[in-house]
Amino acid sequence: DRRVVIVGAGMAGVQTAVALREQGWDGEIRLLGAEPHRPYDRPPLSKAVLLGKAEGSAFEVDFDSLVIALELDREATGLRAAEHILDTDTGPVPYDVLVIATGADPVALPGSEGMPGVHVLRTMDDAERLRPVLAGQRDVVAVGAGWIGAEFATAAREAGCKVTVVEAADRPLAGALPAEVAAHMADWYEHSGAHLVTGAHVAAVEPGAVVLDDGTRIPADAIVVGIGARPATGWLAGSGIELAPDRSVATDDRLRTSLPDVYAVGDCASFPSARYGERLLVHHWDNALQGPRTVAENIVHGPAEGPVYDPVPYFWSEQFGRFVQYAGHHAAADELVWRGSPDSAAWTVCWLRAGVLVALLAVGRPRDLAQGRKLIERGARIDRELAADAAVPLKAA
Ligand code: FAD
Repeated sequence: DRRVVIVGAGMAGVQTAVALREQGWDGEIRLLGAEPHRPYDRPPLSKAVLLGKAEGSAFEVDFDSLVIALELDREATGLRAAEHILDTDTGPVPYDVLVIATGADPVALPGSEGMPGVHVLRTMDDAERLRPVLAGQRDVVAVGAGWIGAEFATAAREAGCKVTVVEAADRPLAGALPAEVAAHMADWYEHSGAHLVTGAHVAAVEPGAVVLDDGTRIPADAIVVGIGARPATGWLAGSGIELAPDRSVATDDRLRTSLPDVYAVGDCASFPSARYGERLLVHHWDNALQGPRTVAENIVHGPAEGPVYDPVPYFWSEQFGRFVQYAGHHAAADELVWRGSPDSAAWTVCWLRAGVLVALLAVGRPRDLAQGRKLIERGARIDRELAADAAVPLKAA
């Protein structure tokens, strides 16, 4: 069994191919991707690429010298696991080991699909369509004050657009952070000159405007919908693969799927975390970097010898002139400890569970993040009084 086929040529797919070579895999590697572009990195799409400060964000990987066969513009359409065959729009591909890395698709605003002027921000093509909107300093409306909405608003303000962000919840990032933390982020919008409308639902999208359910009409040359993303697993229908209720491919702790010789990694897959006692679906860049190393090791050494995947999730966001970083995973019941004032330029929030640091959000405090991440990895207890003192480095009790 020497033929590895990887489907999805985003971060997770590319990193799997590279990690396989790094770990000494000398069999065939085929990397299939639905997009026509050379594989590229997504975080710059809502930052430098959107603003035209960077032309592109292609990965600096020499696929030829690594002997990785890139098959772009090729879409997987089905999987026949018993025969070890991946079906694509241009014919079947046999494999010995298959890695599913098809990522996620943005959720559409119901009723606005395909309407002119309505955008999502997931691909290079999406970013290229939005660039002239920013360059032309047009009026824009972002639907959703999540990570994408915040980064888009940041870039659009920087470009000089009039920006309105419409959010259904009463605060930004309602799905990710508790009210007492996220409430402080609402001010960031206003200070940047963006207008944040919370508790508002989009009733209709009309040419040139968004209409809210209270009748408010907001002029919009472009509307960017950032209301979440769903695992791109529709093509696996009928394959018999086990999906979780959130439609992610449900893997085991070595990122193996329910089908023989099939792994899944990145935004499309969820894994059971012993560390956090629940199944995690992580839609962040670091997971698409770390997961592939585990997959590659399991392929190279065989799953009996291979490592278990149980990372401390990490991500960052650049919004409204701030560097926001989060490590770990918290639950509503965890104890929150403030480190510094949320009214100042830099502050951190720690989450403790029975005295153990389980998660941390750092705004403009990268050292807290670096120290905290190590403490979380070790499952260290910390002293809550010391943790609350922003002048003292974070350390184990
Ligand atoms: P993807 O990057 O989605 O790649 C999957 C690929 O598979 C796609 O190219 C897709 O076309 C292809 N594909 C899908 N279906 C098929 C099929 N049937 N056949 C063949 N190919 C298929 N994370 C952070 O931590 N920090 C950030 O600041 C940050 N910024 C971001 C900004 C933007 C605009 C976006 C969109 C994401 C951002 N992320 C960020 C998240 C991060 O980019 C993702 O977690 C990461 O890209 C996931 O990698 P992936 O390879 O799993 O999926």
